[in-house]
Amino acid sequence: MMKTMKRLEQLYEGKAKIIYATEDPNLVIQYFKDDASAFNGIKKGTIVDKGVINNHVSNVIFKYLEDNGVRTHLVEELNDRETVVKHLEIIPVEVVLRNVVAGSLAKRMGLKEGTEMKAPILEFYYKDDDLGDPMINEYHIKEFGLATAEEIEFLREQGFKVNELLFEFFKQRNIRLVDFKIEFGRHKGEILLGDEISPDGCRFWHWETGEKMDKDRFRFNLGQVEEKYQEVYQLICGPA
Ligand code: UDP
Repeated sequence: MMKTMKRLEQLYEGKAKIIYATEDPNLVIQYFKDDASAFNGIKKGTIVDKGVINNHVSNVIFKYLEDNGVRTHLVEELNDRETVVKHLEIIPVEVVLRNVVAGSLAKRMGLKEGTEMKAPILEFYYKDDDLGDPMINEYHIKEFGLATAEEIEFLREQGFKVNELLFEFFKQRNIRLVDFKIEFGRHKGEILLGDEISPDGCRFWHWETGEKMDKDRFRFNLGQVEEKYQEVYQLICGPA
């Protein structure tokens, strides 16, 4: 019955996904595009079949998180590019978890990419494209009404829990989870994990070779972008 769920009007179009309404106001359809962007939309391009890979990879990860006690928006995958999810009121705070120094952390602290850390780091960013997603802390979040103190505590607790679960999950699949970004939203009085978890918003390094298998290949023109997304797909979802 679910699989026939029809998409109605478009509610929102982002850089990598489109959100459609359904007959049920509590449910929406996430449609995954192949469009890729980086550096706050300055670099644009296409990664062939990225939408299919990210949809499937994200759903496998969300299912695993649900099985391990993390409440998420996932309802049901419809097809290669579409998934029914609970309609969230997105909290405009991006939660970033880090296990190894890379990206903006390397820059901010003047450290070499790949520097090991004793414990994971959690960071908050204000989800606002016009401002370029600036880094914020809990005082900004409270003062400017992005979330309550109680919600912040929940985001932090869930962030570390998701990181712990995913670090092990990826390690078992020969992938080093360097860092990643997650988003949460409110739904019927609950906070659920939303958006997606895919090579677009994570840094994945091959456990043995250290090779990058994520959007950094697109960001920095490293080549073999499609090939590495496919490799992640194979490691997470098994042989096609
Ligand atoms: N990230 C993301 N969306 C953003 C910013 C960051 O998905 O708007 C992800 C990014 O892919 C990486 C992690 O969050 O896995 C940490 O990103 P970082 O702060 O190093 O920023 P970046 O180097 O991506 O500018």
